[in-house]
Amino acid sequence: MSHAEHLLGVWASASNINCLKAVLSSVFRQLQHQCTEFRVMFKTLVPKSPETLAPRNDLIGRATEALSRIPVHDENHTVAAAALSQTGEIFVGVNVFHFSGGPCAELVVLGVAAAGGVLASDITTIAAVVRRVGKGPGDKPSISVINPCGRCRQVLLDYNPDIEVILLDDGGNVVTMSVKSLLPNAYVWPDGNAGQGIGGKTELGFV
Ligand SMILES: [Zn+2]
Repeated sequence: MSHAEHLLGVWASASNINCLKAVLSSVFRQLQHQCTEFRVMFKTLVPKSPETLAPRNDLIGRATEALSRIPVHDENHTVAAAALSQTGEIFVGVNVFHFSGGPCAELVVLGVAAAGGVLASDITTIAAVVRRVGKGPGDKPSISVINPCGRCRQVLLDYNPDIEVILLDDGGNVVTMSVKSLLPNAYVWPDGNAGQGIGGKTELGFV
């Protein structure tokens, strides 16, 4: 007889409320134990939230899609960024190159999100891809993840120090890192969200 069958038997023969309470308590403990086991198993199968592949692939996919719509010969829009909001919305933007210092795609997408009513403080993750055209006559263009430049890292940090960035590590692997870890011992803009304690949950001190 299994434990469950035994419990059911006891339940069936329960003649008073105390006995029922004991049975329910035992069932509850069994469920609790099995839930704990399931959680442990689930944690070993599924990576931690920032490392979950679904949003990572979604963002890279949406940015790649945007870049794919731009003619290959165009040299003014070669990077696309995608940003994920806390509510699951994805915004996409492309860079606007200009010799005077056009904005990177990561900054454009913050503007696009703001135009949609979502401020940087509500953005959780950001990714960018770049299109590179080979120099050889038969070379085909390729699109791959690109890491944010120093200015974008600083802007992201000041707008929301809790943003996670999808980028390539030194080995060329796609990884997710917090913007804080990309700027150790960073300067914090006193008027920025991080400096004002707005948006980001993380406390950052001034240097
Ligand atoms: Zn940049």
